[in-house]
Amino acid sequence: MSGVTDTVWADILAQMRIHYPDLVRGWFSQLVPVRLDQGVLDVLAVNASQQRYLSDHCLRAFVEAAQAATGRLVTVRFSLRDRQVGDPSPPPVVPPLAFEHEGDQVPLNPSYVFEQFITGPCNRLAHAACVAVSESPGKAYNPLFIHGSAGLGKTHLLQATCHRILEQSASTRVLYLSCEAFTNHFIQAVEHGAMHTFRYRYRHVDVLVIDDIQFLAARERSQEEFFHTFNTLYQLQKQIILSADTPPSDIPSLEERLVSRFNWGLVARLDPPCLDTRIAIVHKKSRALGLELSDEVAHWVAGRITTNARELEGAVLSLHAMARQGNGRIDLALAQEALGGDPAGGRTPVTIASILDAVTSHYGVRLADLQSRKRSKSIALPRQVCMFLARTLTDHSLEEIGGYFGGRDHSTVLHATRTIARLQESNPEFRAVLDAITAVLAR
Ligand code: ADP
Ligand code: MG
Repeated sequence: MSGVTDTVWADILAQMRIHYPDLVRGWFSQLVPVRLDQGVLDVLAVNASQQRYLSDHCLRAFVEAAQAATGRLVTVRFSLRDRQVGDPSPPPVVPPLAFEHEGDQVPLNPSYVFEQFITGPCNRLAHAACVAVSESPGKAYNPLFIHGSAGLGKTHLLQATCHRILEQSASTRVLYLSCEAFTNHFIQAVEHGAMHTFRYRYRHVDVLVIDDIQFLAARERSQEEFFHTFNTLYQLQKQIILSADTPPSDIPSLEERLVSRFNWGLVARLDPPCLDTRIAIVHKKSRALGLELSDEVAHWVAGRITTNARELEGAVLSLHAMARQGNGRIDLALAQEALGGDPAGGRTPVTIASILDAVTSHYGVRLADLQSRKRSKSIALPRQVCMFLARTLTDHSLEEIGGYFGGRDHSTVLHATRTIARLQESNPEFRAVLDAITAVLAR
């Protein structure tokens, strides 16, 4: 495939606005996607500072957005407008990893490797299973199913497994993708009558890794297709690795035959990290940033943030930012200043209930209407705003958010978030409304 259509590019930008609103800048509209070829999306920036900002801060986000929008494994390269595309410099910013099929490349995060993963009682089994699978794909545990709530390291472990497999044999065909990318790709294949290509792609791999498989729920046709993909790979003794936020049997609306297959191999749970593991994570994450924290500070941070590794990482980033502003050293008093006294950093976390409160009072609508099937604009818009805010401000899955609005499925929530993201971009008045509601939630 060469060339990237306007719709695909618009979709990529919309994904960025939804998932990474903080990264998006007004000048993104000046970026020019020149081509998508051999798994590389070339994007031209107007000047060097734009290019630097994109490469330093937005690469991962764009790779993810491009993958979701195209349903393909793509890496992204930012160049300057006056440079010829195809010029060997600058090199691709994400090092290409071996995935030879269709010239695609696996957008693995280079820091999601086993060496960077701290083990403890909370994740020992899952970690050991991933290591075992990476040493003998298709033989140790098949399928391998890792589950746990957000931020506990599912994606990290899955990608570390891919890295290790590729290190040992670069010619192994490893296909790593999010469930959303799988279903998007499936829908596109159906629309374009390209099922043959789709099936070829998914059934001719040695290792298929799908992250957040819970998004398959309520998607009957994708489930059906995945069922056949699974059977084919399984019979060929190809490795299948899946992750989800719950065990297979708790994924709502997942067909029984898939639930039973997901249980055929090993199901391993990730639990929230205990204090010692959290301390080790704080040290690991800070050292990766070149920040040396005393045991006292690491202990304090780990005692304060008990939920998951992602939150710990966020805290370490705040300390790192503070260290860069100051003399590079962080003592306990500075850490307390940076992270605030109470675990929520002084702010009450946004919940779906608080979003519903803020939106219903802003628009003067009733909660029951939002949860009803009514489609009139006066109800549909506030409902979509709620879904957008829930998606951007909370950790709830699309499925869970749909559940709050009369059991709508995850594609409805996805559609709502995209609609609102576009609307806020194109309509300044609407943007002001959204800002006002968000400000109420931030109090
Ligand atoms: P999930 O996919 O379960 O939501 P991620 O794999 O994205 O979680 O992990 C969130 C962040 O926390 C990542 O940056 C990851 O590197 C880090 N992380 C999670 N668990 C660990 C761990 N045990 N050791 C080191 N880092 C971890
Ligand atoms: Mg994840």
